[in-house]
Amino acid sequence: MDGTGYCGWCGRPDGACPDRAVCVRRRGTDPPRYCPSCARRMVVQVTPAGWSARCGRHGSLGVEADAPTPPVG
Ligand SMILES: [Zn+2]
Ligand SMILES: [Zn+2]
Repeated sequence: MDGTGYCGWCGRPDGACPDRAVCVRRRGTDPPRYCPSCARRMVVQVTPAGWSARCGRHGSLGVEADAPTPPVG
């Protein structure tokens, strides 16, 4: 916890959720709808392996972080 994020479900500053229990539960099961860094709406794609969400400013975040990195060079 760094205390400077936003709720991925309702987009409010962390700790300011109107229904915290709902947000916590949703964030445990559903893809986030808002970027936790800037609260912009993210493009969410559900895949067979899980989901991925992409912020126009921060790029993609998601559970598919183990995708192979392309060779550099
Ligand atoms: Zn929330
Ligand atoms: Zn962002």
